[in-house]
Amino acid sequence: MKGNEERRAIITLDKLNTYGRIEVDRDELRAAVRVAKAALGKRIPLRARAEGNDDQDYYLCPSCQAHIVVAAVDLTDDYCYSCGQALDWD
Ligand SMILES: [Zn+2]
Repeated sequence: MKGNEERRAIITLDKLNTYGRIEVDRDELRAAVRVAKAALGKRIPLRARAEGNDDQDYYLCPSCQAHIVVAAVDLTDDYCYSCGQALDWD
């Protein structure tokens, strides 16, 4: 199920007590940190890449390479529909 990895990471990170002591398995914590970093990274806008010749109607998501169809520059989405990557159109 989509999102299971993220849910497991949140549960693991919740196991850290308020004093910051680690009370979880180190491998489990490493996996949770990796998932958290990937999720945070998707919030940092990345530039969508124009694909093809001079045709600006199609772009690729810089994270998942999904095709993004743009009807007009002022109608761009802030996030990739496929993976949630924040997109920078400036
Ligand atoms: Zn994407």
